[in-house]
Amino acid sequence: MSDLHTLGVAGLAAAIAEKKTSSVEAAQHLLARAKAHATLGAYLAFNEDATLARARAADARIAAGERTPLLGVPLAHKDIFVTKDFPTTAGSKILEGYRSPFDATVVQRLGAQGAVSLGKLNCDEFAMGSGNDNSAYSPVHNPWDVARVPGGSSGGSAAAVAARLVPAATGTDTGGSIRQPASFCGITGIKPTYGRCSRYGMVAFASSLDQAGPMARSAADCAVLLSAMAGPDIDRDSTSLDHPAEDYSALLGKPREGASAALPLQGLRIGLPKEFFGGGCAGDVIATVRAALAEYEKLGATLVDISLPRTELSIPVYYIIAPAEASSNLSRFDGVKFGHRAAKYDDLIDMYKKSRSEAFGPEVQRRIMIGTYVLSHGYYDAYYLKAQQIRRLIAQDFQSAFERCDVIAGPVAPTVAWKIGEKSDDPLANYLADIYTLSTSLAGLPGMSVPAGFGAGGMPVGLQLVGNYFQEGALLQTAHAFQQATDWHTRAPQGY
Ligand code: GLN
Repeated sequence: MSDLHTLGVAGLAAAIAEKKTSSVEAAQHLLARAKAHATLGAYLAFNEDATLARARAADARIAAGERTPLLGVPLAHKDIFVTKDFPTTAGSKILEGYRSPFDATVVQRLGAQGAVSLGKLNCDEFAMGSGNDNSAYSPVHNPWDVARVPGGSSGGSAAAVAARLVPAATGTDTGGSIRQPASFCGITGIKPTYGRCSRYGMVAFASSLDQAGPMARSAADCAVLLSAMAGPDIDRDSTSLDHPAEDYSALLGKPREGASAALPLQGLRIGLPKEFFGGGCAGDVIATVRAALAEYEKLGATLVDISLPRTELSIPVYYIIAPAEASSNLSRFDGVKFGHRAAKYDDLIDMYKKSRSEAFGPEVQRRIMIGTYVLSHGYYDAYYLKAQQIRRLIAQDFQSAFERCDVIAGPVAPTVAWKIGEKSDDPLANYLADIYTLSTSLAGLPGMSVPAGFGAGGMPVGLQLVGNYFQEGALLQTAHAFQQATDWHTRAPQGY
């Protein structure tokens, strides 16, 4: 079959199970395609032998009569998940050449279901960024317009899925890094409730915010991946929630309680925070999001005006808490235990200094300095503690909002993807673009991005859906109903 890349997760799984193709053929086809589109910069590492060995093992399981929704399906992992089969860099020179002795829980769980990893996907260094231009290796290009960023930090994952290099990928979201690149590349991505997916083996950025999730073309495909990825891992991640994984795919087919097939979202109250629709958001984005919301109304949903009054504060709060945690997490990269060590140094302190200065990029160094500053004696109360207090209020604002609605909707980002280089020298411009995703992360709530149409320059625009804790199923159901009625998620960029 020569059109294997056009199939999504479910389509590929069916083609492999029905023996129209094999896992080996699918892997070879997609590896060749990834190499043909290497200029996108989406991949950082391959290991063809390991991939094909796993594909052969999946084919053998199929031959023996086994079936799982992911058996033999190729996918790829953001290079922030540690993997035995591939090097792991977290997009940083400091981990160049690092090989983990174990697989991250998420990687292990998808592998156990028979998914076959094609390689590792580019990302911003330690997942710090909004345009994938902070990768120490190469920028990633947006397949909808290669002069533009794919979003970040899971930019390699989003670009690879959008360009049909792989049907699905893993990503991580600390302040928007699944939702924003999904929006910029016209794919579907979901960040689950904090703690839903194990952080074991995820290179830590900001531990109280980091969360893994799937990125794919459709909500239905995300549901397949999330069912395999989620679930408790208490022995290895103390922040993993003791809440069993659900069969999200089974939920999709069911209309909401009391709803009909014609009006599958009957009774669903969608809250629109007025702060998300203000002057800070570009007109083309607002218009696209509004048109998508009109479609949700046609499916039976009602729109309610709500307020998330501390939305603006989420930027300073996040950019205190995340760097604070990063400065602590990144202290393990000292030139001794992991990765890069300076070739020449005078004494131990000089070795630390040189190793870290040489191998951490400018954004990572900036955040280590900010984080160290806000945690230091004399500033802790003024910055870090204050930020934690406001974080609590932000979470409470969501709970008040959920008294009036079932899900919250709005834009994912204030603009479509910008030009590569446009914001590279302006960290604040990058931070401000995170305005609509940060508060969800600070509250630990699940959020997703659903392709909603196209804005300026023909670039994709995502609609953000945010649910209450553990409402991943309801979010996927809502997005799926929309995707049954629209075809935005099926569009491919020209030439892919
Ligand atoms: N853009 C945000 C940052 O730079 C979010 C990144 C993320 O979610 N990993 O921190």
